[in-house]
Amino acid sequence: MSNYLITGATLFGEDPQDILVVEGAIAAVGADAAARATDVSDLETIDATGLVALPGMVDMHTHLREPGREDAETVLTGSQAAARGGFTAVHAMANTAPVADTAAVVELVDRLGREAGWTQVRPVGAVTVGLGGERLSDIGGMAASRAEVRMFSDDGMCVWDAQLMRRALEYVKAFDGFIAQHAQEPRLTEKAQMNEGVVSAELGMVGWPAVAEEAIIARDVLLAEHTNSRLHVCHVSTAGSVEIIRAAKERGIRVSAEVTPHHLLLTDELVRSYNPVYKVNPPLRTEEDMQALRQAVADGVIDVIGTDHAPHPDESKECEWMAAAMGMTGLETALSVVAKALIETGMIGWRRFAEITSRTPARLTGLGNQGHNFEVGAEANIILIDPEARWIADPAAMSTQGNNSPFAQMELPARLVHTFYRGHRVVANSELATPAGRP
Ligand SMILES: [Zn+2]
Repeated sequence: MSNYLITGATLFGEDPQDILVVEGAIAAVGADAAARATDVSDLETIDATGLVALPGMVDMHTHLREPGREDAETVLTGSQAAARGGFTAVHAMANTAPVADTAAVVELVDRLGREAGWTQVRPVGAVTVGLGGERLSDIGGMAASRAEVRMFSDDGMCVWDAQLMRRALEYVKAFDGFIAQHAQEPRLTEKAQMNEGVVSAELGMVGWPAVAEEAIIARDVLLAEHTNSRLHVCHVSTAGSVEIIRAAKERGIRVSAEVTPHHLLLTDELVRSYNPVYKVNPPLRTEEDMQALRQAVADGVIDVIGTDHAPHPDESKECEWMAAAMGMTGLETALSVVAKALIETGMIGWRRFAEITSRTPARLTGLGNQGHNFEVGAEANIILIDPEARWIADPAAMSTQGNNSPFAQMELPARLVHTFYRGHRVVANSELATPAGRP
């Protein structure tokens, strides 16, 4: 493998430093990196002047579609999309076919991820058998499997049965796992097509009220308190949800919260176009909700960015709104969309960006090899970003199989230039290079 001397990159957008990467690990940072490099064989020097260096991003919410929906995405293509988006780890949601509700399926996804070698792929286990919401899945078997699952979610479906949710929260405590909830009260969202509000009333569509999300979050933070277990709230989308989570954290309840890039930039006004690319679950909300979510990231009430990357084949999106599937791609635009929503607006800097995209998701999911602070000895999962670049998002040029990006043809700030995964440069000059070997 190659070793790298990365010169002149600004760590977290602050001071320019040299970074020496030897045999997959950070070997030196700062003044002694160049001096140490003189003894290193097989060295490649990368001039990173003007680029921002950050720890590789960790996504807690990715749909890779394999097994079962390889027409939408595979572990390989999703991994390549992740690498090009700056992610050195992704968590693959369980709503595959078959559902990832047994040790056999999570071990399959784990193995496919290792074989692909573009990013670290960690399977998420289903909370209930077949996402059916009726019986707990083999949570213990998945935790004890080679995939070492710690995160369990029925994402796409809500664990609406309070007794099952309580049992699941109790169960995962045994191995410091947690439940990631897709908060959607099913009875309040029957036949819902978009956010319930002024726009849905004008368009005559069945609305999806904010209270359907907030009611489940309120219940679940109380269950997390009762069981003294860990709850993660997926894709928070309303201002009211933020206030419930804020209050729960003030009470000391162990809850973490996630927001998607698209909920930080887009609103339900876009649904007036009837373009199904804007159909997503939870739905795009109002300007007021979007501003509250941005503020919550800046305040620390929201802990992480999760892409909810949800690729679909064209036939599921190129149809009328009512028939279209819900979901958007996001891996290859997340970095730039978050930069547009939060960095360009002056609400956060690159250091907070690294917390919400890398350090905190790595800590929550127990990934000790991710989310570093450029400590010597850390696994070299590093991204280099051009903060001044502007580019036009083009689904045809992306690695994901999905063409359903709501950011298509939008000009975005900040460009991922290089991705190092376990010390291998898997993305060079924004294009795929070569995968890292099998870990
Ligand atoms: Zn979801």
